[in-house]
Amino acid sequence: MKRRVRGVKGSSRRTSRARVHRKAVVKKSLAKKGAGPVRQPAHRRTSGARSGSATRTKYVYFFGGGRAEGDASMKALLGGKGANLAEMAGLGLPVPPGLTISTEVCTYFYANGRRYPQALRTEVAQHLARVEQLVGRRFGDPVDPLLVSVRSGARASMPGMMDTVLNLGLNDDTVQGLIRLSGNPRFAYDSYRRFVQMYGDVVLDLKPQSKKEIDPFEEILERKKRDRGVQLDTELTADDLRELVAEFKAAIRERKGVTFPDDPQEQLWGAIGAVFGSWMNPRAIAYRKLNGIPESWGTAVNVQSMVFGNLGEDSGTGVAFTRDPASGENIFYGEFLMNAQGEDVVAGIRTPLPISALEAKNKAVYGQLIKIRRKLERHYRELMDIEFTIERGRLYMLQCRVGKRTGGAAIRIALDMVQERLITPRQALLRIDPEQLNQLLRPSFSQAEKERAVREQRFLARGLNAGPGAASGRVYFHADDAEAARARGESVILVRVETSPEDIRGMAAAEGILTARGGMTSHAALVARQMGKVCVAGCEALNIDYGAGTLRVTGRDTVLKEGDDLSIDGTTGEVFLGHIPTEPSEVVRVLVERTLDAKQAPMYQRYAQIMTWADRERRLGVRTNADLPDQCANAIAFGAEGVGLCRTEHMFFGEEKIGPMREMILAETAEQRRAALAKLLPLQRQDFEGIFRVMQGRPVTIRTIDPPLHEFLPHDEAGQQALAAELGIPVERIHSRVEALHEFNPMLGFRGCRLGIVYPEITEMQAHAVFEAAANVIRSGIATHPEVMIPLVGHVKELQLQAAIVRRVAEEVMKEKGVRVPYVVGTMIEVPRGALTADKIATDADFFSFGTNDLTQTTLGVSRDDAGRFLVPYVNDFEIYPRDPFESIDPDGVGALLRIAVERGRATRPQLKVGICGEHGGDPQSVMFCHGVGLDYVSCSPLRVPIARLAAARAALGAGGETEA
Ligand code: ADP
Ligand code: MG
Ligand code: MG
Repeated sequence: MKRRVRGVKGSSRRTSRARVHRKAVVKKSLAKKGAGPVRQPAHRRTSGARSGSATRTKYVYFFGGGRAEGDASMKALLGGKGANLAEMAGLGLPVPPGLTISTEVCTYFYANGRRYPQALRTEVAQHLARVEQLVGRRFGDPVDPLLVSVRSGARASMPGMMDTVLNLGLNDDTVQGLIRLSGNPRFAYDSYRRFVQMYGDVVLDLKPQSKKEIDPFEEILERKKRDRGVQLDTELTADDLRELVAEFKAAIRERKGVTFPDDPQEQLWGAIGAVFGSWMNPRAIAYRKLNGIPESWGTAVNVQSMVFGNLGEDSGTGVAFTRDPASGENIFYGEFLMNAQGEDVVAGIRTPLPISALEAKNKAVYGQLIKIRRKLERHYRELMDIEFTIERGRLYMLQCRVGKRTGGAAIRIALDMVQERLITPRQALLRIDPEQLNQLLRPSFSQAEKERAVREQRFLARGLNAGPGAASGRVYFHADDAEAARARGESVILVRVETSPEDIRGMAAAEGILTARGGMTSHAALVARQMGKVCVAGCEALNIDYGAGTLRVTGRDTVLKEGDDLSIDGTTGEVFLGHIPTEPSEVVRVLVERTLDAKQAPMYQRYAQIMTWADRERRLGVRTNADLPDQCANAIAFGAEGVGLCRTEHMFFGEEKIGPMREMILAETAEQRRAALAKLLPLQRQDFEGIFRVMQGRPVTIRTIDPPLHEFLPHDEAGQQALAAELGIPVERIHSRVEALHEFNPMLGFRGCRLGIVYPEITEMQAHAVFEAAANVIRSGIATHPEVMIPLVGHVKELQLQAAIVRRVAEEVMKEKGVRVPYVVGTMIEVPRGALTADKIATDADFFSFGTNDLTQTTLGVSRDDAGRFLVPYVNDFEIYPRDPFESIDPDGVGALLRIAVERGRATRPQLKVGICGEHGGDPQSVMFCHGVGLDYVSCSPLRVPIARLAAARAALGAGGETEA
């Protein structure tokens, strides 16, 4: 509720502010139009949604000099980068002036055959003139040239997806101006060659064509260094670099058949076009898919005056987080390099210094940064991720955004910020993605096993602890190989020199990621933390040969090949040869294993605090799917309030139970069947007693037998022979029974309530087991609430037949034992007919529970076991479903049936209790959906219970699918 109110406020403020900007600009441009010689035809609006046709859409927004036309609330229009640059400029932080071309232009661009709105060029020119005025230099001026960067920026941050071009505006004339300005020809030519290289790559598309090819520009650079007999880029002279510029341009001409543009205007529009174009490149598309970012959002383009971190040892560049994004600790956390530009820190070419070392290099700048850190955190009330550059001792802010963090850090930061009174507990809940809790529940290496690995000299090297947790798996060097190995069921460690956005699918497939270069803020580290992957970055001792497919470690003879076992500890940065077993998290040790004292477990304490807040907010109950007493106990430890699904047939697979079960199936008469069932009864009763005792009065939903009977018989000859011998019957009888039970489509065959209707003695036995167990446990002083659930009901009569048996047995048992067992009888809704006739079914059901696994199969007409071949491309390539409908509820189809069933069921029986027990009950998005349709509870596997609790709280607070910020 509260959240919703805030949301409305925020958006109304947003629109009114945006309107003010628009009006102001319209006035100005009208005035200009009247006076100036250029008459433009009235612009046709790009979106018909906005009112008024006389006003013109404003496409370009200015920032710099302590003011800005935009602000942080305008992310949809200006992209994240543009909106935050505007916000920082508005806060008075030192932001180099620039302009942002709005995302509406991107939308227009793709809706109009890759053309721009007519007014755009004029608007860009006008705003660029303002930048020139503030900086005091002119774009393209050979004497005193303004140089700019062209930076993409979508609404949601997409690390590395869109490439930035720096130093734009340089050519053989303007480079002379830069030499004069800097007094440093080497710097000027270095900037020039970087510009040609980036522009050649990003705009003119001269890049490696295969994964084994090396970058063409790097190849030329390496050759140059060899020719000059030097090791480092920095040892090349101004003349060398000038030659490189010409060689780069020649390579572009030769390989791409285009001439490098000298005209700065042409350069600018080429770069703007490339940014918009990159919105649709495969890497961007893959990233969007993985992160659920709609294509329709589009990207903005930022054109910003350059500042130089590579002007010498008094200059530099860095990135930082206002707190530690791995642990969440409240310390200033970052890295920098002196005499470096832009991407140098993140690209992992040189290994940067920790931010604290900046104090020694420039105390004033360090102090200024510390102040900015505090100011940004107080302003945004969030962990911020910043980029800065120092030009000759002066600090400039180049970017800020809400920082990505690990699950552990998300929780710690949210809690600390509540304590610091920056946010409320509710906001804290909205900041934690329920899936992030997985990271708290994730294993680490057992200390003993790790020590053994060390003793066995299997410790290979140490890198940076970029993504916590422990992972062990097989080495793969390429993303596609990693994906393929994962599909074969292997556990994968993706090993790369460094990662780039085209590796993200492989990173998603990997258990852990290991890179040879790059810092804590490298691509690998950022993406791994976001995905919740274990990651060790910047492990410089690794020598990776992609061509040969080998990994060597400096100082050791070992050569690892693809498929060899490797283990990495993302919490410490250690890398080990071979496999190391992992052990459970603090939370699991405190709650489940009880081998750790909560007082000694800070991470557990944070988890517990968040869960307390979550439970205060949520309306949905959270139960678990569990079939055995110890699973139930674990689930209670994780906060389950009952069992939502106990699958009785799982019990039949138990050691001493499968025999009588098979005997029952092989029975030829009802008499024989009863005799076999009589053997099962005490065993099943014992199972239920165990569960009821553990559950201590919490409701337990027990489903009567569901799967087709043939599943219980051995299908191989040897197994059938053995069974025949055991039962003392001819093997032919087993053969013929197996044959008789054969079904063409078991999913739609003789299963669910159909079994209990044809063989009522099975249901009868199960009911006896349930109620006798309940009576015994109640007698021993423990409250018990059994809920008997009839599966696969599509017709009310099916339920009536089964419920009558259950109720009759219940009364008999209660009478016999002289104990009252408070019980209910209900049904699963898992076929469409059941949902559609829910009004009728509700006449006999005390509760409904949605079996969304079967309901999805039967609604979509898709057998989950056969869906692998087409469902993956359905989701990934054709975007037919946004997510796998077996993982997250298909809201339009299956969801519609849920709505109908709830509505019709409650029309008949207003107090009808409704829950969900399909796998979807542990998927945060599905939990939100369940909240929305008014279910009473969700039920999921024990380890998903905390995730469902948080998701339910967030749903109650009105969260959408994403975390706040
Ligand atoms: P990304 O979205 O990949 O972070 P950025 O647009 O932030 O890309 O740019 C890449 C690098 O270039 C960053 O390190 C940034 O600080 C630097 N950079 C961008 N614009 C400028 C500029 N005007 N002056 C100096 N450095 C810049
Ligand atoms: Mg950046
Ligand atoms: Mg089912």
